[in-house]
Amino acid sequence: MEEKAYFCPNCRSNRTKFRVYATTSQSFMKEPVTGEIYSMADPVPVEDAEPTIGCLVCGFAGNEMRFVKQAEREPRMASPTNPAY
Ligand SMILES: [Zn+2]
Repeated sequence: MEEKAYFCPNCRSNRTKFRVYATTSQSFMKEPVTGEIYSMADPVPVEDAEPTIGCLVCGFAGNEMRFVKQAEREPRMASPTNPAY
């Protein structure tokens, strides 16, 4: 995962609470006639180039880049601002 700020592009209120959807690969054996799974190996983590990130506020899930790009478009101000208009 990138060490960059995230901002949910869907609800646009969440910058802190996320989940990552980890991909695993798991090999199994299948009975060719009945379709029954009879041997399941332990899951092996798959290294994702771009993990899927979920927003814990609205439930939206998408590519990590969408969250990073949204944070770049609307960066959080380091200090509170007083808009002069
Ligand atoms: Zn959200």
